[in-house]
Amino acid sequence: MTARTILDAIKVYEDEFIAIRRDFHAHPEIGFEEHRTASRVAELLRNWGIETHEGVGRTGVVGTLKGRKPGQRVVALRADMDALYIDETSDLPYRSTIPGKMHACGHDGHTTMLLGAARYLAENPDFGGTVHFFFQPAEEGLGGAQAMIEDGLFERFPVDAVYGMHNKPGWPVGEFGLRPGPMFAASDTWTVTFKGSGGHGGSGAHKSTDPTLPLGHFILAVQTIIGRNIPAVEPAVLSIGHISAGAFGAPSIIPAEVVVRGTARSYSASIRDLLERRLREVAESVALTYGCNGQLQYNRGAAPLVNATAQTAIAAAAAADLVGERSVDTDVSRKTAGEDFGAMLERKPGAYILIGNGVDPDGSFQDVHTPIYDFNDKILCLGAAYWVNLAKKDLCSDDAG
Ligand SMILES: [Zn+2]
Ligand SMILES: [Zn+2]
Repeated sequence: MTARTILDAIKVYEDEFIAIRRDFHAHPEIGFEEHRTASRVAELLRNWGIETHEGVGRTGVVGTLKGRKPGQRVVALRADMDALYIDETSDLPYRSTIPGKMHACGHDGHTTMLLGAARYLAENPDFGGTVHFFFQPAEEGLGGAQAMIEDGLFERFPVDAVYGMHNKPGWPVGEFGLRPGPMFAASDTWTVTFKGSGGHGGSGAHKSTDPTLPLGHFILAVQTIIGRNIPAVEPAVLSIGHISAGAFGAPSIIPAEVVVRGTARSYSASIRDLLERRLREVAESVALTYGCNGQLQYNRGAAPLVNATAQTAIAAAAAADLVGERSVDTDVSRKTAGEDFGAMLERKPGAYILIGNGVDPDGSFQDVHTPIYDFNDKILCLGAAYWVNLAKKDLCSDDAG
């Protein structure tokens, strides 16, 4: 079976998959609330004769399929299922039926593409080895990948490689892109609290310790972490997004506490550790200079997403079989966004690919996380065929270690 034949075979079911995708779109569920979505996924997997496990990482679902040919290798394909707190403004016939919630990132399409692959592979088990289908909850900042891992995902379903995919608005239909190595950033947030005595801004100024002074120096010193601690070849971002101090706009009271919050993006564990350490050192030392106390609270969000070289090559080849080598960009720029699939890639080798969601003739497109975004049904079968071809390619690879 060539990749194009797989695509043609999947296209026979295109209308059914469009209906499934639009049903998900009309019934969006926020992370860890994907009960309806998960039970629909499980029901379909069982209908196709696939061994199905529900409640993995709360609302996650795992389908397991063994090929008819001999083979020991195990591959996992992962899709996310959750929606966002966004009010859909489109007038699509299948628009969200739930006010304030919307599939604005295309996870309705991701879930459906993986279902398409599961159905095809169940009906055509002419492969050796095992494929797990990971339907992950709560990708949008709630740690669904982590939840599945903590629930024993890789102990219960050991894998040799794991793969992910996301749609990319603004890229034409029929284009794919990825890169070996770091692709998405570690996405962390942090809070620094400066504490002093506070006091009267006039008569008591000389007797007070004033936390606005370390704040002033901290704001400037933070950017020297990027300029003087991070090697120039390693991208990293530190930004401040919130500062609060004082109460009721009182101009003559020195506040006793100042809170500054920000974000940190990096692409490797070592740079991530360095950012945290330097933020702490700068906060504590500038506070000390002014007789105040400075404390950092660092909250780790999504892990950096790092593609393995061998699996990146397999993924690129699987896409190229379908759309031609010229339509697969294997050197896309790194993204400063976070993607929690990175947590899976921290534990298992694998690759994450982007699939073009389309672009209007005038070059415009509806980006993810906007109230007018919609997943493009035209890529459902292409994405499903990519998954199938990828699984088969990986299972035939000799990267079993
Ligand atoms: Zn998103
Ligand atoms: Zn997304």
